[in-house]
Amino acid sequence: MAVMADRIKPFPVIDDDNRDFWEGARRHELIIKRCGDCGFYIHYPKPFCPKCWSENVQPTRVSGRGHVFTFNIVRQQIAPGIPPPYVVALVALEEQEDVRVVANIVECAPETVSIGMPVEVTFQQEDEELTIPQFRPAARAGGAS
Ligand SMILES: [Zn+2]
Repeated sequence: MAVMADRIKPFPVIDDDNRDFWEGARRHELIIKRCGDCGFYIHYPKPFCPKCWSENVQPTRVSGRGHVFTFNIVRQQIAPGIPPPYVVALVALEEQEDVRVVANIVECAPETVSIGMPVEVTFQQEDEELTIPQFRPAARAGGAS
């Protein structure tokens, strides 16, 4: 009964460039491609390094920590199955400031999100095939609150 066509939300198209990212998400790992020659992180994923043009690009697990670079609060229903309000953000990863991942900021009220806010990755399993990396406010140093 539950087949892929039943999925209401729009879901990402998985291709050779982003497959590592989405397969990593299913393992609850945030995977970003990284140049094996100069160390540059590359996102959105490409098969070559935009810094040194090397094709020695490898999927690399990153910490999942970063901060909100910019964001928008969506207050109107745009996509089916995604009730507003919610936050769409560009999250700058701590490994490299200009590596920015588009994600929702979850587990907090949209009004509490601010630019520069520390966040950490969390994984939302949509169904058996799709798990989406999202971000939530980073836990305070010193453990759970
Ligand atoms: Zn490079």
